[in-house]
Amino acid sequence: MGEAERGEAAPRRRLPFWCAHGHETRIAFADEADVPELWDCPRCGLPAGQDQTNPPPAPRNEPYKTHLAYVRERRTDADGDALLEEALTRLRARRGA
Ligand SMILES: [Zn+2]
Repeated sequence: MGEAERGEAAPRRRLPFWCAHGHETRIAFADEADVPELWDCPRCGLPAGQDQTNPPPAPRNEPYKTHLAYVRERRTDADGDALLEEALTRLRARRGA
């Protein structure tokens, strides 16, 4: 409502994202922007999420993760996996891939 809002840049939030390697990335979003659940870590390329204690799992082609580890992860984290897939699909759609 204040006059300050007029003629100024849209209000922004800086939101942190963490990848599985613990890299923190802060991304600025306009207040009205649709914040993605995942962001590609600029340092290592892994997907990064907003929950520092539970970063998104590395993609299945990561060399250091064994197949068994991935299967285990899927079993215990099926819901998170579905959310991840959904978020990735939305991200890809937004990028027009
Ligand atoms: Zn990273």
